[in-house]
Amino acid sequence: IYILGIESSCDDTAAAVLCNGKILSNVVATQEVHKKYGGVVPELASRAHQQNIVPVIHEALDRAGITKKDLTAIAFTRGPGLMGSLLVGTSFAKSMALGLNIPLIDVNHMQAHILAHFIEEEGFDKPEFPFLALTISGGHTQVVKVSDYFEMEVIGQTLDDAVGEAFDKSAKILGLPYPGGPLVDKYAQQGNPKAFQFPKPKVGDLNFSFSGLKTSILYFIQKELKENPDFISQNLEDICASIQHTIINILMDKMKKAVKQTGIRQIAIGGGVSANSGIRKTLKEAEKKYGWKTFIPKFEYTTDNAAMIAIAGHYKYLTGDFADMEVTAKARIKM
Ligand code: ATP
Ligand code: FE
Repeated sequence: IYILGIESSCDDTAAAVLCNGKILSNVVATQEVHKKYGGVVPELASRAHQQNIVPVIHEALDRAGITKKDLTAIAFTRGPGLMGSLLVGTSFAKSMALGLNIPLIDVNHMQAHILAHFIEEEGFDKPEFPFLALTISGGHTQVVKVSDYFEMEVIGQTLDDAVGEAFDKSAKILGLPYPGGPLVDKYAQQGNPKAFQFPKPKVGDLNFSFSGLKTSILYFIQKELKENPDFISQNLEDICASIQHTIINILMDKMKKAVKQTGIRQIAIGGGVSANSGIRKTLKEAEKKYGWKTFIPKFEYTTDNAAMIAIAGHYKYLTGDFADMEVTAKARIKM
């Protein structure tokens, strides 16, 4: 079974080819145009997708060593994401499937971030159902109870900002370029996580809130800068380590609560922020500390990629769950 996955929900144009769940190729064209605006500009994103999509798909097929005639089905991201961006991938996938006369499969981007754990990969165990997924990305922060490949229930989520936004907005306050998450991670590795204290939000159930954290970081930095204009440059590592430490604590508190509530001790993380080295380390340590079994994806399957779309497509293909040609992109879709 050869599945071509196409992902275009935000600012990465990506295509991947899977053969029976194994990666043959995984190509991502990251759009650099957004950097100078400090965030993704939707109009520029869809234009860049239009330019990138043909070469990216060609490269994915080339690297996989197959031609489009070998494909069994085409899977694409239907949503959630930016409408203009999603439209490019959706239209392309539809016309390609139509032209090749093969099944078209629509994929939910957030389910795909979780299903990335099912890509056949040496040295990586797959979680068993049911398990808990913590999806942490640029637009979402969710605790999901996963009972089957496409049976997922959101049991907790953010009430305002996503974790990725918390990282990126904190980075912006520190004058770091977009997307700042990976930079906070980098500087945090050299810093003292207990150097500065930030308040943890008080949110009930398994829900999260990150907008207050951003504000308290902003006030803290403004106050310190008044006394010492070089405060940021002199303390960048410690500030980043402290911010990251606070965020990880917030996430871990909720996961402990989720394990208690559900009795499920298998935890998988997914989404762009699961690339964070502090989160990966803390979760690994939780295996011994709390007796959890944790699943941490390979780096290339954390931020947006098409391999995760292709694996979701693979499992939908197995049950014959195909889209029809009337399918449309959707900016917001529920789990
Ligand atoms: P969504 O999946 O919710 O639609 P998205 O697709 O835009 O959002 P992803 O590509 O999954 O988001 O993740 C991007 C986010 O991950 C950005 O906010 C980025 O800063 C963050 N991120 C990436 N690497 C790291 C890291 N090492 N540490 C912290 N954050 C990171
Ligand atoms: Fe994503």
